[in-house]
Amino acid sequence: MKKVILVLVMMLFILAIGGCDDESDGGTSPMEIPLEETITHVEEDVDFFIAVHCEPGGDPLSTNYVALNWLALTDLVNSADDHNMKLTLLMNPQWATYILEDEHRLGLVRDWESNGHEIGLHSHGPHMNSWNGYTNQEQYFNSPDFIGTMDDLMDVVNQLPASEQMVTACIASEDQEYDFPSGIIYETNGGADKLDDLWSTPTEYTWNGQDVLRVTHARYAVSFSEVNIDLQQMNKILDDNESDEIMGIVFHCFEYADDSAPYNALFRLLEENGIHTNTVSAVVEGYE
Ligand SMILES: [Zn+2]
Repeated sequence: MKKVILVLVMMLFILAIGGCDDESDGGTSPMEIPLEETITHVEEDVDFFIAVHCEPGGDPLSTNYVALNWLALTDLVNSADDHNMKLTLLMNPQWATYILEDEHRLGLVRDWESNGHEIGLHSHGPHMNSWNGYTNQEQYFNSPDFIGTMDDLMDVVNQLPASEQMVTACIASEDQEYDFPSGIIYETNGGADKLDDLWSTPTEYTWNGQDVLRVTHARYAVSFSEVNIDLQQMNKILDDNESDEIMGIVFHCFEYADDSAPYNALFRLLEENGIHTNTVSAVVEGYE
């Protein structure tokens, strides 16, 4: 309800300014505009985020995997922009390394950010099948794949956002007790149960001495998962949805590279339902 009032007030304000600018127009004054007309385009009041995982690739010391998927990420952001959807792009450090190699790539990422997308961290720790090479867990320090500690990781990835401090992350569950990095205040998690994880309210956790607020996401069209929401099911869910909780979904950049159709269709579906997604930090900050 609050949003309806806000939109109404903003529209009256715009009309009033417009009226001041155009003295020659002897037409309708702002107060004569019927109220029904000013509130017909109100958005549905649904907090919805889309997290995109950018994976490290098989060799933590190489950015070849990122190079293969970089164009798909730019296509994904362009498609989201076409539908005014804001994404939360959660990147392993290999992506930051690749982006920082070229000022044009960094410029593009900064453009995405100033356009409302969020750049955050995805970290594959040593307990995951493709480790990104960073951990605070000393038993891995002698591994040939070891690159540095989580402070070293943050020194790299924090060069991406203009603020020089990422605030949102998704860290593998087995590693977060040791590897949850400093400065991260929001985390995303989930995927084991599609319907339980689709909705959540921000919940406080403490990992590695860091207090964070967690929201969960369900998997959407994730290729290797049986626990998945597809377009048809999402359509039904949105029709039936009466929850005030935050909705979240996750998929991988490589899946968009393999087949962009289900994701572009999702953007259209959300738009048809009056939903425009926002970033994790924005929906958690704005949640009451
Ligand atoms: Zn991942």
